Amino acid sequence: MRVYRCAPVRLLSRCTLNSTWEPLHFPLRALWAIFCSNRGLSSTQPQPKAPTPYAEALAVNDFTWLVTTSPRAYAATSKILPPASNLIVTPGLHPEVADTKASELELLLAQIDASVAVGEVGLDGSSRYKAHYAVQLRIFQAVVSCCQAKGGRVLSVHSRSAADAVLDTLRQYPGFGLAVMHWFTDSPASLRRASALGCWFSVGPAMLKSANGRNLVSLMPRERVVPESDGPFGAVMGKPVMPWETGQVTDTLAELWTLPVAEVAQTLNANGKRLIALMSN
Ligand SMILES: [Zn+2]
Repeated sequence: MRVYRCAPVRLLSRCTLNSTWEPLHFPLRALWAIFCSNRGLSSTQPQPKAPTPYAEALAVNDFTWLVTTSPRAYAATSKILPPASNLIVTPGLHPEVADTKASELELLLAQIDASVAVGEVGLDGSSRYKAHYAVQLRIFQAVVSCCQAKGGRVLSVHSRSAADAVLDTLRQYPGFGLAVMHWFTDSPASLRRASALGCWFSVGPAMLKSANGRNLVSLMPRERVVPESDGPFGAVMGKPVMPWETGQVTDTLAELWTLPVAEVAQTLNANGKRLIALMSN
């Protein structure tokens, strides 16, 4: 039986860009692994022995979305990872490195032309990065405008301490496509606004460790939530969450949504399939 390539998950923890995924030796911002319920691994099952996260993700997940942090990293990554029907790598420019990578913006816009999705992009208004907020905003506006001009793209969006500004920017460019808000940490009011604007949300195990994260997840539109690993930055118990370890998300969502685990798995699976279909539209 052919298993349908379905929905997203992404692994990451709080975004800090000082680590790389060791076995691959180049920076990947996150992995979104979309998989069907009949193939999903529970968090209690033993971890697969992976030669590389890439190879294992290909073997285990129905679909994996790898996001990158800079256009040059994307170019390098694309050369190393062979194309696959169930894995995509997308170009991005992370707001935390906006000041040092601003010269790569033109390269990013060219890469977006040939990509079905974009990420990671966005804004970061936290104290550590707000000094470069102006350049972040210039880049993010250029990216969203480019997506609008190209007829729409699916974006993985970072919005730490800047959710309303992110949403303002998205509203400026109708037809930009679809935003998947990753690890959303803003207020319930901003979450409702994002939801009303049609945003999706990607939820990882690390996000579910905090009371605020769990509260926000309980308010999300269930038909627009996909699991994420957010690795190698996202970690649980000091270990990066791997793209095939999103079973933890399913279990916690079942508690928060007071639904059977199987029903949540089915929902996430269906959501992922829809998101993939939206990417290819
Ligand atoms: Zn992020």
